[in-house]
Amino acid sequence: MTYQNTQLLIDGKWCDAANGKTLAVHNPATGQEIGRVAHAAIADLDRALEAAQKGFEVWRKTPVVERGKIMRQAVSLLRERTPQIAALMTQEQGKPLAEAKGEIGMATEVIEWFAEEARRVYGRVVPSRNLLSQQLVLKDPVGPVAAFTPWNFPINQIVRKMSAALATGCSIIVKAPEETPASPAELLRAFVDAGVPPGVIGLVYGNPAEISNYLIPHPIIRKITFTGSTPVGKQLAAMAGQHMKRATMELGGHAPVIVAEDADVEMAAKAAGAAKFRNAGQVCISPTRFLVHESLRDAFAKAMVAQAESLKVGNGMDDGITMGPLANSRRLTAMAEFTADAIKHGASVATGGERIGSSGNFFAPTVLLDVSLQSKVFNEEPFGPMAAIRTFKTLDEAIDESNRLPFGLASYAFTRSLKNAHQLSQNLQVGMLWINQPAVAWPEMPFGGVKDSGYGSEGGSEALEAYINTKSVAIMCN
Ligand code: NAD
Repeated sequence: MTYQNTQLLIDGKWCDAANGKTLAVHNPATGQEIGRVAHAAIADLDRALEAAQKGFEVWRKTPVVERGKIMRQAVSLLRERTPQIAALMTQEQGKPLAEAKGEIGMATEVIEWFAEEARRVYGRVVPSRNLLSQQLVLKDPVGPVAAFTPWNFPINQIVRKMSAALATGCSIIVKAPEETPASPAELLRAFVDAGVPPGVIGLVYGNPAEISNYLIPHPIIRKITFTGSTPVGKQLAAMAGQHMKRATMELGGHAPVIVAEDADVEMAAKAAGAAKFRNAGQVCISPTRFLVHESLRDAFAKAMVAQAESLKVGNGMDDGITMGPLANSRRLTAMAEFTADAIKHGASVATGGERIGSSGNFFAPTVLLDVSLQSKVFNEEPFGPMAAIRTFKTLDEAIDESNRLPFGLASYAFTRSLKNAHQLSQNLQVGMLWINQPAVAWPEMPFGGVKDSGYGSEGGSEALEAYINTKSVAIMCN
């Protein structure tokens, strides 16, 4: 599919911005402009809000079984259209075509699961103190939702929010990423084509701060959901609090990987290495701080270097490519800074550490050894293809280091001991822990963080709760 310009979706219709303004979209593998995306003006937001209110009134009265049927029809369309949509995603985001297809595959899993699970949003009948009275607990959709999503998973960052909203009867306005706009538009197109009524889903792009400053305080919007960096998340959460809006915040992480003394080193390097370099490390649950028992330092470093050097870096549209470019030049600059800072603090570069070529945002898969706790990469989210290794002596020491940072999103551990696994699951301050396996974020499991990584969940039944209000009703029946 040739890359296309992206429009806004307002009240069931695809349209340009009211003032005709657009922004350029670039291919990170070539640096070339490949298309334009409409830049919403306030007049467009007003129309989107009005449509979302109207859409909510229709959708909340649509039976859950009907909502589920439409969602499953969107899944069929997405499956049919996967090759074309994946090609758009790779051109605008950079990830290898196979990863783009995998992302769409996971999106269909998420939609199906929410469509099904919403049938089990039960209320309760609570025994009354007066036999003539009936006490009910009802579950209502929270109302029109404003969702803000980033560029690293152009479709999957939206799909968890949109599926939960649609399944529970909410309408939603998505402010999708301006840097990767075409594949998200195809996600919403599948829902429109599947029969979602006008106004139930809206899609806007533009100036992120202008849009969030307008939508969050607006009385029509009842819930906010954001995925992105911790500093922006804190600003938006504060605004949501000021206007008493419910909020879900999926923010930055800095995942520790604990390789215990009894770990299977080859398996640990393979699983954590694959997770590290997926999407060129631009993943909030990406493994970052590799804490390795001192007796395994050399073996683990060797296995990680082999893993990094086995990757084929290049344009994600080309056959056999296993790691694409970074999605934007900000990340390229950041990788160079993280590397220089780690070296300044005493680390050695076991492999990578530099840009590849001079066009496109390619950075070599990087492994840093003996990284100081003071270095930037051990304190700030690198959000790139960089594994930072240091050793520990006792498991307690590794747990303390894992919990040192304000983040608490994902974590990984490798051990053959049940005792260690128990100790880790009891003591790590995180929202997610994978032991002896790579991260797989299936929709049926909760997905979210603690501490500065945010609050709320985008998986499991908890994800539906986030879009539901509880209403207590007592009826005197005489
Ligand atoms: P950024 O913090 O400027 O933007 C992150 C996302 O937030 C983008 O999608 C952006 O459009 C959006 N955003 C920014 N300001 C906003 C506002 N006022 N209102 C609404 N949305 C707003 O930085 P960036 O350069 O795009 O990424 C830098 C860092 O962000 C990364 O290093 C990483 O730590 C984090 N990030 C996290 C995720 C994630 O999956 N949790 C995704 C992308 C970026």
